[in-house]
Amino acid sequence: MKISMAAAECVPFAKTGGLADVIGALPKELAKNGHDVTVFLPKYNVIAEEFVQHFSLIEEIPVSFGGEIKPCGVYQYNDENIRYLFLESREYFGRSKIYGEPDDGERFNFFSIAVLTAMKEMEVKADIIHVHDWHTAIIPLLIKKDSRFKVLGESAKTVLTIHNLQFQGNFATTVFTKGFELDENGFDLSSIEWNGNYNMLKTGISYADKVTTVSPSYRDEILTAAYGEGLEDVLKERKGDLVGILNGLDTQFYNPATDLAIEMEYDHSSIEEKAVNKRKAQSLMGLPVKGDVPLTVMISRLAGQKGIDILEEALPELLQSNELQFILLGSGEEKFEDFFVQLAKEFPDKVAVHIGFDEDLAHQLYAGADIFLMPSHFEPCGLSQLISMRYGTVPVANKTGGLKDTVIEYDRVTQTGNGFLSDFTGNEPFTEAVRRALMFYQESGHWEAIKKNGMEADYSWKQSAGLYEGLYQELTKNLSAK
Ligand code: ADP
Repeated sequence: MKISMAAAECVPFAKTGGLADVIGALPKELAKNGHDVTVFLPKYNVIAEEFVQHFSLIEEIPVSFGGEIKPCGVYQYNDENIRYLFLESREYFGRSKIYGEPDDGERFNFFSIAVLTAMKEMEVKADIIHVHDWHTAIIPLLIKKDSRFKVLGESAKTVLTIHNLQFQGNFATTVFTKGFELDENGFDLSSIEWNGNYNMLKTGISYADKVTTVSPSYRDEILTAAYGEGLEDVLKERKGDLVGILNGLDTQFYNPATDLAIEMEYDHSSIEEKAVNKRKAQSLMGLPVKGDVPLTVMISRLAGQKGIDILEEALPELLQSNELQFILLGSGEEKFEDFFVQLAKEFPDKVAVHIGFDEDLAHQLYAGADIFLMPSHFEPCGLSQLISMRYGTVPVANKTGGLKDTVIEYDRVTQTGNGFLSDFTGNEPFTEAVRRALMFYQESGHWEAIKKNGMEADYSWKQSAGLYEGLYQELTKNLSAK
């Protein structure tokens, strides 16, 4: 099958979170299974020179956008049988960051149009066009409603994956009307609007042939008002086409046995080497190097979703009443950054904080930690708990979304389970779950069992890629039957 993907992030080129991990890994698994995969990405300024130096400019395409013709260079980079096409616009992507610009709506509208223009001009054939999150969610609409691109829709079906429903790409309707050339006849503007705004994700939910999200539990949750972020009724209309497929991990990239970013490689048969990595993590972060003190870690975007408010309550108490260390690697909302910086001042021998984004440090911390904290209020899939388990680090998480689907409470009798779960009601249950973890930490037989259960599980993309393939096949079968 010929599959084109379009997304705003992809490991190893540009990453702010789990979306990048998925776009870095799923195409590789599909290519391994014999599919012909092209991945479209913006050519951001932030992409490291070590990659950019291998990009080759293969085409210059004129992108008609907002009544103007804008230049767009198409750069190719091949890796592991995948063709990456980076679309260059100095105007929109020659910035110092990936998101958070006042014209984000216009930037990703442009990118979406540029993807389809490139596909048409360069005759990139696709059976499936798979788009991700709000940034590229309007592509299904464009294929169906913009006469320039309808030809692509004659041979391709569209899939939209929602990696996080909270981010919807909400902009003034003028951002939409300025950008596109849709058939005025019969185009219903209400299909792109939500609460008086242009809502890019909602547009994708309405127009994609299938909508997926990244875990079965989150799929069910987003159909309810509590998790639907206001779009639950739109999602209910697509319920029959809404599928939850759990993310996998790039098990090559996240492999403690070969990871060059960590102090000492190990696998489940040499798990004792984790101690070397723990010492390294402690010394890197300026904490006392103590093997027997449990080291808890959090690596995260610092956003309300991630349950930092729960840690604001839970951590001071846990740190006061236990021999415990805590390391935070993250960045985001200032009030949360301030909380952690202050905490490190209050507990200088127990808490260390690194505000920022650092992939190598993250790997060293996954390898060095004993316990990973993930008190998310909601979690579409969550990759951090999977990475933790792969590195023999035990997750303590809230029972929600993908965390519910992947973290299993340890059972003393059967010695099954890979972590500890708190019912989703705030500080007390989460503190209790951490206490259970700390209790088992003292019982070395059980602690070894929990770590091994986590490390030995299969987190690869194999099964999930198979589910995507099944979905693609179902869609294209209908196409050839028409
Ligand atoms: P989300 O996509 O909501 O941010 P996930 O758990 O799905 O959460 O994925 C987060 C990914 O981003 C993981 O690979 C995690 O290790 C990484 N990450 C988050 N914050 C940082 C950071 N400050 N430095 C390095 N990696 C980070």
